[in-house]
Amino acid sequence: MSKPPTLHVLSSGGPVPTRARFGSAYVLESADRRYLIDCGPATVYKLVQMGMQPLDIDHLFFTHHHFDHTSDYATFLLTRWDHSIGTENRLKVFGPAGTKALTERLIGESGAFSTDWKARVGHHLSHTMHISRGGSLPRPAPRADVTDTISGPVHEEDSLTVSSAPAEHVQPFLESLAWRLDTPQCSVVFTGDTQPCDRIVDLARGADALVSLCGNFQSTLRDRGIEEGQTGTLGAAEMAAEAGVKQLFLVHIGSDLSVAENRESGLAEIAGVFDGEVVLTDEMTSYEIMTDRPVRSAGTRDPIAHPHIHRH
Ligand SMILES: [Zn+2]
Ligand SMILES: [Zn+2]
Repeated sequence: MSKPPTLHVLSSGGPVPTRARFGSAYVLESADRRYLIDCGPATVYKLVQMGMQPLDIDHLFFTHHHFDHTSDYATFLLTRWDHSIGTENRLKVFGPAGTKALTERLIGESGAFSTDWKARVGHHLSHTMHISRGGSLPRPAPRADVTDTISGPVHEEDSLTVSSAPAEHVQPFLESLAWRLDTPQCSVVFTGDTQPCDRIVDLARGADALVSLCGNFQSTLRDRGIEEGQTGTLGAAEMAAEAGVKQLFLVHIGSDLSVAENRESGLAEIAGVFDGEVVLTDEMTSYEIMTDRPVRSAGTRDPIAHPHIHRH
């Protein structure tokens, strides 16, 4: 029997490194498969710390190309390639515009890391290592199947249906996407970086869990004039409530909400809007996705009951 579906939170911070958090990276494990969402700083290191290897991952989904979501991509591609012996599945990568170009600039024929992989393809020391792992010569160059995505139904294969919706973050400089992964066990939506928006609520309707950016208290974002393009406590709660999900996982958490005494008041604020389970995630921690409860009907809440809604 398969294990229950699990969200492995590798990283649950933003672009500012703190002792507790830095960057974004999550693995959804379901039906013996693992899907990586974003590849921020130290993703590969954290993946291995949590008992997984790059070759355990055949699918990577980028929400957008801010460095706190992408900067370990080269390491992921190269370690996955370096450990491969030719019997593995080809890595599939999905992301907004620029994902193909980024990949080519990293591992392409003239990419930033081409000197590395060409040395490993050419030198006899690397040949010996490769053969000792079970590979044969000649070593192929690193490759991935990369798709630049706009939105809508994106991908369907055995036991996985993927769809996306445009998020609202820092357009037009960067395109951003929210992702929905439907597996035989669960449906999970990752907001990526966004302000609360209807398209993500629609994407998340009927899903089990919403993994949402929650940078700070909504009031703090508003008072500092940085509410645009981001989601705080109430925005995350509102999206989860309107979509009718069972669980809300808060990620990309800023320093204010990381403080112990603020943590409780942030969760209390959310509980006033969303009555499902709320998890303020910690890094390097795994959470079970709840799928046994009956799904509440989506979109039935009375918006008048929630005056603090921050819909753009
Ligand atoms: Zn970010
Ligand atoms: Zn961002």
